[in-house]
Formats: sequence, C-alpha cells, structure tokens
Amino acid sequence: MRTVPGPTDRVVVVGAGLAGLATALRLRGAGREVTVVERGPGPGGRAGRIESGGYVLDTGPSVFTAPEVLADTLAAVGEKPGDRLTLTRLDTSYRAQFSDGSSLDVHAAPDAFAAEVARVCGPAEADALRRYLADLAELYRLQLTTFIDRNLDSPLDLVGPELWQLARRGGFGRLSSHVGKYFTDDRLRRLFSFQALYAGVSPFRAIAAYAVIAQLDIGAGVWHPEGGIGAVPRALAAAADDAGVTFRYDASVTELTTSGRRVTGLRLADGETVPADAVVVTADAPWRLVPGLRAPRRPVWSPSCVTLHLGVRAELPGQAHHTISFGAAWEQVFDELTRDGRPMSDPSLLISMPSVTDRTLAPDSADGKHCQVLSVVAPTPNLDPRSGGNPHLDWTALAPRYREELLATLEARGYRGITEAIEVEHMDTPHTWAAQGMAAGTPFALAHTFGQTGPFRPSTLPRSGPENVVLAGSSVQPGVGVPMVLMSGRLAAERITGRTS
Ligand SMILES: Cc1cc2nc3c(=O)[nH]c(=O)nc-3n(C[C@H](O)[C@H](O)[C@H](O)COP(=O)(O)OP(=O)(O)OC[C@H]3O[C@@H](n4cnc5c(N)ncnc54)[C@H](O)[C@@H]3O)c2cc1C
Repeated sequence: MRTVPGPTDRVVVVGAGLAGLATALRLRGAGREVTVVERGPGPGGRAGRIESGGYVLDTGPSVFTAPEVLADTLAAVGEKPGDRLTLTRLDTSYRAQFSDGSSLDVHAAPDAFAAEVARVCGPAEADALRRYLADLAELYRLQLTTFIDRNLDSPLDLVGPELWQLARRGGFGRLSSHVGKYFTDDRLRRLFSFQALYAGVSPFRAIAAYAVIAQLDIGAGVWHPEGGIGAVPRALAAAADDAGVTFRYDASVTELTTSGRRVTGLRLADGETVPADAVVVTADAPWRLVPGLRAPRRPVWSPSCVTLHLGVRAELPGQAHHTISFGAAWEQVFDELTRDGRPMSDPSLLISMPSVTDRTLAPDSADGKHCQVLSVVAPTPNLDPRSGGNPHLDWTALAPRYREELLATLEARGYRGITEAIEVEHMDTPHTWAAQGMAAGTPFALAHTFGQTGPFRPSTLPRSGPENVVLAGSSVQPGVGVPMVLMSGRLAAERITGRTS
C-alpha cells in the first residue's frame, strides 16, 4: 500500500462530515496532532439536522446500518458507541408497500421475516429467502475484505481466491438477473434490488456484487440512534474533541498552500493560514480544492434526490419507521432517473418516520397527540446530461409543484391528513446539493458503476496533485453511505500512518 512520504505529525482534515470525523479519530488514535476545519457551524455535513418547533429533523441519511463500523471507528480512541449513543435495532427494518395494496414487513429476525414472506408470497418464496439471505451474507464476506474495507492501488490487488469465488457465485452478472434466479414474486425481486439506487445505478445495469447492499440493511439489520442520525456525528466529534482533536467551525478553506510537491497548509476565507504536514480532504469534488488533482475523466454521477422533511401534528397511526413505497412502474423508473433525465412518473419513495421509535424527535401536542417527524426521499435525475441527468430542470420553479405531488402521493399511500398537519418543513432539491458544491447536483457522488468501484474508484491517495494530500468521503474508495464513508476514514488515515490492522 502506498503511503504519504515525509513528515506527517500535524494533519489537517478538511470537513467534519462522517468521513472527516472518522479520519480524525483514527489519526488522533495513532498519535497525530489533528485539526478539523469545517465551513459549517458544527459537525455532520450531509448527515445534517434541523431543530424547529420541538421537532428534530434529520436532513441526510435515515437508514443507519453496520453499527460495528461505528464501533470500530470509536475504538480508535478507546471508546464504545454506548459511551455516547443509544442504538436500538429495529424489529422491522422496512415496511415494503406495493401498488397492489399488499405490504410486507422486513423483520430483522430471519424466522419472523421468513414467516412474513410465507404469509405474503407463499412458502416456496420463504425457502428462497433463506437461501438468498445465506448467499448475501457470503457475498458480503467475500467482498468486505477484497473490495470494500481496503485501500486498492491497482486492479491486481483484487486477484486472489475471493475474486474467483465471487465470479463463481455470479457476482459479475446483472443484479436483476441474480435476484430473479432466486425469487419468482416480483415484490421480492424489487425488495432485493432497489438498494442498487443507493449505489447510484439501476439494478438492470448494476452487477450482482451490489446485492451486498441489501446485506447491510435487510441481512444485518437497521438501527436507530436515539436523537436521530444527527446524533452520530455529534458523538464522533465529542469523542474526537475529548481525545485532543482541534475543531475549527465556520472556517471555509479557500486554498491549499504548496511548496514543490507538498502542501504546506490551508488558507481560510478570512485569510488565516493553518500549517500542515499532511492534509486530508473530504469535500465533494476534491479536485476543485486540491491543486493539480485530476478530476475523474468520464465521471458517471449517481441520480440525485428531492427530500421533503416534515414535522406534523398528526399521529399517523400504524405507519412503520421506514417504508419503501413502491409505485407500479419499475424498470421504467430507472430509465427515467438514469437515462432520460426525467423525474419519476410513478414514484418509488423511501419514507422514514423515526418518531415512532424515538419520542425525543417530536413533541406531543397540547391535545395530547404524538406528533411525528417524516422524511421522504424521492430519487430524481442529477444535473449532468452525460450521466443521464438533466441540467434544464428548473428545480426552483419545480419545487412547489413537486412538493404538492409528493404530499398527494403520501395521502394516497396511507399518510392521510398529513398535508393539513404540517407544522415544520424543509425541502432539498438537486439545486440545493449543487449550491453546496456537490458535483452534478447529487449528494450521492460517483455512481458505483463497475468502472467506478474498488480499484477503479478514485483512490484515497491520488497519483496526481501534491504527495501529502489524502482523500476521504463518498467521492473515493470504498464509496457512498454512512458505513462506507466511516471506512474511508480508516483507509485515509492508513495512507498516513501505514496499515493498522
Ligand atoms: C438525503 C440523503 C439521504 C441519505 N440517506 C442515506 C441513508 O439512509 N443511509 C446511508 O448510509 N447513507 C445515506 N446518505 C449518504 C450519506 O449521508 C453520505 O454518504 C455521507 O454522509 C457523506 O459523508 P462525507 O463525510 O463523505 O461528506 P459530507 O458529509 O458532505 O462532509 C464533507 C464536509 O466537508 C465540508 N467542506 C466542504 N468543503 C469545505 C471547505 N472548502 N472548507 C471547509 N469545509 C468544507 C462540508 O461542509 C461537509 O461538512 C444520504 C445522503 C443524503 C444527502
């Protein structure tokens, strides 16, 4: 593994999102002097939080998986998640709601899940489920150590028995066909392939290896941190602070200062310079900040999303913590998002209502009602026509109409009365993400196409640009999502400290 040459005693990390926090904890745990510089007023980045009128709205991730990665991150400074967070495993990871009116609860306990599948789809599908879950767990095991939780400098790094086993198990075929070999019920096919969208690709084009994303949520379970996912970056930042990391908030980095092939420090918007022996950049599109760093040559960006976050004075009884609400259309939806540059005509939505699990997130009304918080994630095309996106969609003009459509869809899909009960709301569109500096107006970075995965995804230690700049976050290996960017923090730190395990 390549590492940063020369002195690395003082490291500055740009960004206090999950990747930056993970990097800082790892580096501090290895004895480095670490400063985190963040342009926002606090930690979190995309894992943002809005508090208003007694409601706590998570504006970024809502599905929290793989708590063991969080535990491993905190262990770098001798802490455990339980020291600062209360994590609860959800009995029902998701409720899948289908357009024919049926629904299926994805239980964390395999027997309960199989019983539910038998009830809704029949016993043969329940048998298929058991076989499929075993396959997923094995696929994940094979990929974790080869593709995912590892710095890859060359495709040759992959060569080994796991790669052949992965190929033998059909990991390089199409995801949709792989899932189709196990299940005949279309509802289960959808349930085990929609996760490809989390990776920025259509299941009809993704390779089967991406089935492992379903291992993270359906296979291994979904967790809820009390106080919302925004509590996670706060806990990491507090642990880093106690371990001696210095935080500079409201400090925007405008430039990296260089001498020869090395960066010597950062310049902040107010003109101050912060010296550094090495710098870790976790900003989206890091080539905009790092001198000489080459941007990916023909990037394919993930689809983007519109999010609608609501605090409502309504109980909405019977709703689950996470609901995947599928429209009737399926293959066409992915074409719209990743090829045609059109918003979904028949949307499939992720609707999260964490206040059913966590009453700290929403108040009770004067008349004794349990109010609720909801977030709705509606995938949309990004803004880059070369990635199937559409730069001409005027989201500023579209947003009010799209909001109305989303609310009408929610009303029609069981969240009756929600529109009239709204007390607090916040909406983000591809324009919001673009204004925050995210390439192609997507918060989901480079899609996990085959050519942008593993050794083909930008490395944590780029070959262009200064020799002492390291990258972390969703733009680089291993990829997008909370567990992945936490892992990228470890991979980035190892480029400075050398391998630690
Ligand atoms: C709506 C939404 C839903 C999601 N849902 C899920 C989900 O359910 N499950 C899941 O696992 N993942 C989900 N994700 C993805 C996940 O949130 C991200 O992959 C992850 O949070 C990215 O973390 P990061 O540290 O790489 O980037 P960021 O969080 O963006 O951190 C980068 C930080 O750098 C700072 N910065 C940038 N430029 C500068 C500069 N010049 N100077 C100083 N600071 C700078 C930024 O302010 C930011 O705080 C979701 C994301 C979004 C937006």
